[in-house]
Amino acid sequence: MSVRSLFLNQFRKQSLFRQIRLASCWSCGKDVQASSALFCGSCNALQQPAKGDNYFKIMGVMESYDLDETELAKKYKELQKYLHPDKFANRQQKEQEISEKYSSLVNEAYKTLLEPLTRGIYMLRLRGKDIPEKTEVDQEFLMKIMEKNEEVENAETEKEIMDLNEENKAQIKSLQKQVSKAFFDGDMQKVIKLLGVLKYYTSIDAQIQASIRSKGIIR
Ligand SMILES: [Zn+2]
Repeated sequence: MSVRSLFLNQFRKQSLFRQIRLASCWSCGKDVQASSALFCGSCNALQQPAKGDNYFKIMGVMESYDLDETELAKKYKELQKYLHPDKFANRQQKEQEISEKYSSLVNEAYKTLLEPLTRGIYMLRLRGKDIPEKTEVDQEFLMKIMEKNEEVENAETEKEIMDLNEENKAQIKSLQKQVSKAFFDGDMQKVIKLLGVLKYYTSIDAQIQASIRSKGIIR
């Protein structure tokens, strides 16, 4: 057998091996029933997340801007319970590594999908788009935002800050509805524009939450 045919044979074997591996357990080699299964049905080894799975698939929630945050939090707790690195302390080294990587991937996915702004940006990226570094907003809008910033800075009483909180949350909710509709309509230009606006209200929200914490307000 020539070197070349030896090489080709080897190559064929390897690519065949790779194809089989996609649906089989890395530990025992048996077929894993569903690509979304966390553990092998035969040897119970923790599986790698399926290649190409986006954050929605990883979290096991429907891919939609209107995701149910309670459902997302429930899935998150469930996954982290199964993936906790402590559970793999006495298992094979490779399984420990998978659990660590998988667990941090789940953290990242959860954090990204939970916030309306980062969720929107992530969904845009799944569609090959992004929001520009500098968003174009009109002067009047910027003035309004600056005024809000000042109001938050100057809020002293609990009532003042909580009123601002309520008002800003309502603003974010309303923008969320508009973003959702723009995604539904497939109008990515509009999504980009709305997320640019949402960015400002999200930073006001961060400012308000910091103020609430520093004032020791318990809700
Ligand atoms: Zn197995």
